[in-house]
Amino acid sequence: MSNLPSEPEFEQAYRELVSTLENSSLFEQKPEYKTALQVVSIPERIIQFRVVWEDDKLQTQVNRGYRVQFNSALGPYKGGLRFHPTVNLSILKFLGFEQIFKNALTGLNIGGGKGGADFDPKGKSDNEIRKFCVSFMRELSKHIGADTDVPAGDIGVSGREIGWLFGAYKAETKKWEGVLTGKGGSWGGSLIRPEATGFGLVYYVNHMIEYAGQGSFKGKTVAISGSGNVAQYAALKAIELGATVVSLSDSKGALIASVDSPITPEDISAIAQLKVKRQALTAFAGKHKYVEGARPWTLVKVDVALPCATQNEVSKEEAEALVASGARFIAEGSNMGCTQEAIDVFEANRKEKKGEAIWYAPGKAANAGGVAVSGLEMAQNSQRLSWTSEEVDEKLKGIMEAAFKNGLETAKKYVKGGEGEFPSLVAGSNIAGFVKVAAAM
Ligand code: GLU
Repeated sequence: MSNLPSEPEFEQAYRELVSTLENSSLFEQKPEYKTALQVVSIPERIIQFRVVWEDDKLQTQVNRGYRVQFNSALGPYKGGLRFHPTVNLSILKFLGFEQIFKNALTGLNIGGGKGGADFDPKGKSDNEIRKFCVSFMRELSKHIGADTDVPAGDIGVSGREIGWLFGAYKAETKKWEGVLTGKGGSWGGSLIRPEATGFGLVYYVNHMIEYAGQGSFKGKTVAISGSGNVAQYAALKAIELGATVVSLSDSKGALIASVDSPITPEDISAIAQLKVKRQALTAFAGKHKYVEGARPWTLVKVDVALPCATQNEVSKEEAEALVASGARFIAEGSNMGCTQEAIDVFEANRKEKKGEAIWYAPGKAANAGGVAVSGLEMAQNSQRLSWTSEEVDEKLKGIMEAAFKNGLETAKKYVKGGEGEFPSLVAGSNIAGFVKVAAAM
């Protein structure tokens, strides 16, 4: 698994996958896949580098940069870049590992990777962020390419940073190619890419709701955490489909709205503006309640919970509170949004109460819409074509439906005991993603 003294996030992601594989009949049917598991758990290559840049006071600054090229059995390494002070190899290995199977679930030919830096964009000027991007790409450009490794955004890297990174790549290599996704529309970006993770999450959950015979998003109350790109577009799509969104959050606390005066599309536009200026959600205290130091899960009574902030943002106690309050669907917009203890709570409840319980969907299936549209952006770049919003949205809907059905049917086929009509989507998605990669390897 790992030969470092401690890689807690990677070990968590690895154990989560392995526990579901071992609890299925997969290894009995395909003993050779045990070796495939050993092989897939080691990155093909890890690139670590120094990023030296100059701040606005003309002082030299230095950060750590990384790219984990985890697995290329299905296609070029694909996965985002995260700029956040917590970034280290354990976090990037967990993200890259999850990305392998998520990308497999999209059905597209993309391998798995992840990268980033321990650079903190908070408190930096636009000029400093731009300079950091240019320095970061000076080294990264030696290791990526449209047919080898295609990064995109993640936390701390949005369309603006992708622009600076793309310009730097072009300057370094003299090549205009689809080497990054999440680009701007006028220079090779795909329509719907900014919306894709949030929209795709809602499309996926809508299939869960329909399958469970609970109607659709219409009339459902929804708790969302986070307030970045994923949370914003998940909220907008849920509202468009007739749901009532009662929360968002940021790193300092949760914004809690009442069912009578929920979060509106206008609130979300205003929040998007705040985020560009890197301001806190406290600006909304007054219109909605802002609870400092809290996450939404214990403060709301909802039908649907969508963690869309970061890893391990739902604890065991918060999972128990969601179950006790009668929530029926939980799906991760973030990667590894739930702790293993929280997943255990949801899965135990599902097994005990069958169709009456909470149903949990892991990020590697439910948030695959983002990387799926990244894959569609690569296809458009290769063809030198741009598809319409409708074309991309239709393809995204098809991919999310297939990801849901694949997880569901695979769980029915492989999970020991079959588990009836409401099987484990975490087991099914893990097995489906793994089988595709193992077969390709
Ligand atoms: N960072 C996103 C993810 O976690 C998107 C990756 C991509 O588009 O390559 O899936």
